Amino acid sequence: MGLVVLKFGGTSVSTIQKIQKTAEQAIRERAAGNRVIVVVSAMGKSTDKLVQMAGEITDCPDKREMDMLLSTGEQVTISLLSMALKAQGVPATSLTGWQAGIETEEVHSNARITEIDTDRIKSHLENGEIVIVAGFQGVTCEGEITTLGRGGSDTTAVALAAALDATKCSICTDVDGVYTTDPRYVPKAVKLSQLTYDEMLELAHLGAGVLHPRSVEYAKNFRIPLEVRESHGTEIGTMIEEEMTVENTKVVRGIAFEDQMTRVTIHWEKKEDMRMAKVFTALAEKKIDVDIIIQGITGLGHGNLSFTIQTGDLLETLAVLEANKEEAGFSKLESEQQLAKVSIVGSGMVSNPGVAARMFEALTEQKIPIKMISTSEIKVSTVVPDRKMVEAAQILHDTFELEK
Ligand code: ADP
Ligand code: ASP
Ligand code: MG
Repeated sequence: MGLVVLKFGGTSVSTIQKIQKTAEQAIRERAAGNRVIVVVSAMGKSTDKLVQMAGEITDCPDKREMDMLLSTGEQVTISLLSMALKAQGVPATSLTGWQAGIETEEVHSNARITEIDTDRIKSHLENGEIVIVAGFQGVTCEGEITTLGRGGSDTTAVALAAALDATKCSICTDVDGVYTTDPRYVPKAVKLSQLTYDEMLELAHLGAGVLHPRSVEYAKNFRIPLEVRESHGTEIGTMIEEEMTVENTKVVRGIAFEDQMTRVTIHWEKKEDMRMAKVFTALAEKKIDVDIIIQGITGLGHGNLSFTIQTGDLLETLAVLEANKEEAGFSKLESEQQLAKVSIVGSGMVSNPGVAARMFEALTEQKIPIKMISTSEIKVSTVVPDRKMVEAAQILHDTFELEK
């Protein structure tokens, strides 16, 4: 008997009717002879609404209380889905993150799963029940409720699939697969039948919101074949696996983009004073994520360091840097907001040195200023003004002929 993990995102469970459809799908998987775990997100935009409510009270809500609040969203869906299954005569049990044994590190709002105690889930499965687990949440060893970061229900699903050695993990969403780029912004985008874990991991980290990056990390580490498909449709989705089984001649396979980026630049009078380790240690201690980093030294012996952060982290970043100004030895601090990152991704880039040049040429020709660049074996990222983000993605989609 196989074990299947199905995950349904917010739009897929946004109404009672859709919850009923989700129940029917779980019943079909069970009727096909599988044991079934269903992971669900909060209904529709309810997590956003909870965030907004907290924002009406304070600009800086306590992170513990925020997790307490946001975890309620998923709890609504699991109970309703369980009721829908029982109403059809199918045995089912809903479990919160902690009831499902999902233990996390002691970090609020973006915790990593450290361990899953699968005993309780296994005993419900052995009783023939469909087990419904609240996505996006866990518990610390101290008994505190945590959340896994926005979009984190994908990670709950894949982590459960890994811990229980599932035969399949399907991420059921509002698109019928992973596209060459976000089809909501680039209508020419086309669906991909297959992607490697590494390509998907880069796309997810670089802003393709279709999968939570940590879910792809789990799938890769535990070799879980991952399918992204439309929730209530019949179309075959996209398979994400270790290797491609269909021939792929494309050097660039996908384009990802994200806005809300800010560039911070630090200036030193003398290059000898550049205590950069101090800068990054101070930011790391506050768990501020730093992305693209560029260091420079002028002919006059001045030093500078630029790096990107999420715009939401700007105030905290500036405060941390000011507090460490003397120790880090710098003289001036600047920031530029309203930036975005646009990236091209593809395994074929490793052996194709001209790809970056084509990318820069195409953007420059269309007068899109490139503010920063970062590369790895299978990706090239550029930082551009955010108002040019979608246009840049469209241009690159055409340049690398991804619609063909
Ligand atoms: P869910 O609520 O089911 O988790 P998400 O909104 O998190 O759904 O993810 C699905 C959305 O991801 C799509 O509606 C689409 O706009 C966006 N997306 C971004 N990049 C891609 C891509 N490359 N392929 C498909 N969808 C993408
Ligand atoms: N409900 C959470 C969110 O909106 C988690 C998820 O949907 O995966 O981010
Ligand atoms: Mg999602």
